[in-house]
Amino acid sequence: MGNLIVRSDCIVTCNENSDILDGYVFIEDGKIKDIGKGDAPKEYYDHADFIDARGKTITPGLIDAHTHLIHGGSRENELALKLNGVSYLEILKMGGGILSTVASTRKASKDELKAQGKVRLDQMLVHGTTTIEAKSGYGLDFETEVKCLEAASELNQVHAVDIVNTYLGAHAIPEAYKGNTEGYMTFMINEVMPYIAENKLAEFMDVFCEEGVFSPEQSKILMKAAKKLGYKLKIHADEIVPLKGAELASEMQAVSADHLLAISEEGIDAMSKAKVTAVLLPGTSFYLMLGAYANARKLIKRGVRVAIATDYNPGSCPTENLQEIMTHACFGMRLLPEEIIRCMTIHAAYAIDRSRELGSIEIGKSGDLAIFKAPNLDYIIYHFGINHVDKVIKNGKLVVENGNLI
Ligand SMILES: [Zn+2]
Repeated sequence: MGNLIVRSDCIVTCNENSDILDGYVFIEDGKIKDIGKGDAPKEYYDHADFIDARGKTITPGLIDAHTHLIHGGSRENELALKLNGVSYLEILKMGGGILSTVASTRKASKDELKAQGKVRLDQMLVHGTTTIEAKSGYGLDFETEVKCLEAASELNQVHAVDIVNTYLGAHAIPEAYKGNTEGYMTFMINEVMPYIAENKLAEFMDVFCEEGVFSPEQSKILMKAAKKLGYKLKIHADEIVPLKGAELASEMQAVSADHLLAISEEGIDAMSKAKVTAVLLPGTSFYLMLGAYANARKLIKRGVRVAIATDYNPGSCPTENLQEIMTHACFGMRLLPEEIIRCMTIHAAYAIDRSRELGSIEIGKSGDLAIFKAPNLDYIIYHFGINHVDKVIKNGKLVVENGNLI
């Protein structure tokens, strides 16, 4: 927790009016205490460090609202197979895909998972991300799901990046319950969910609602059970097949519905009305070579709040870098830079229920800032494929300097 004055001619506040200021931000005891035009009042300098970021662009610390942070192993061996036209189902049959990640995650110790998770968090931080959501879902059994959530919770205690945990046991049907989805659901509802809730290992429960995984009816049962235990809700919805996952998210008052490439017209209206945040994942569209993106423009026009995240995971989007995702949001979804930055700050804060504390440069919010070596916001996206981050400030403390961890 430090006191800090930051001066810049391009402070992208991401407040309600999307104000861009030539001015200063004053952070006291980790929180934004004052913002104004021009130079900061003289009395602030007596008890604060000063960062001159003129010529650079300041945004709120980026928020990655959808990641699968904790897992064992990696899947680069599937790259050539995919390019040779081997389908995901065939890769699964060979023991690859999510099955291989589940196997390596089960095998890894908690310390190994933490060490790998830390490397990813470091990458996130040096690319400007100060808060993330992290899902379990590569264990599927009791021990491994708990181990992964504990690993993320323990990392949250020691790492500058803040982590919001989500239990995603309903990511796939484990081998042990093949052909017995109901049995797996009962196990999650009766054994795993109560333990995780009681031990405060996850704030959210998420479900993969998709053909061949969990149907909307099954998803609803899981969501109802989770809600009773005090979880907030998320859902992987309408990614490939329009199953009315968006409608379900709205009915269950989920905080977010994610993916949404195949959302129905009714689903859009329902989400807009129920104020469910849409989390779109253009990096995944790119990486899966889908040739299609969620229709962000249509969702925005119809009044749905849109957030954009990495979907960091070992299979369909292995990158920690939100600046890379900005490129896909811009050139794949045709969003404007000023829209994209809101999708990764204030709207992402809504997607993890942190909009009161995070996501904009406003008085009372956390002193989380990303400072980019770029004269304006457009430049960050225009000059793509490199890391523009100069400094990162978390709770008023300098944690990245000249693009490197301190
Ligand atoms: Zn996901």
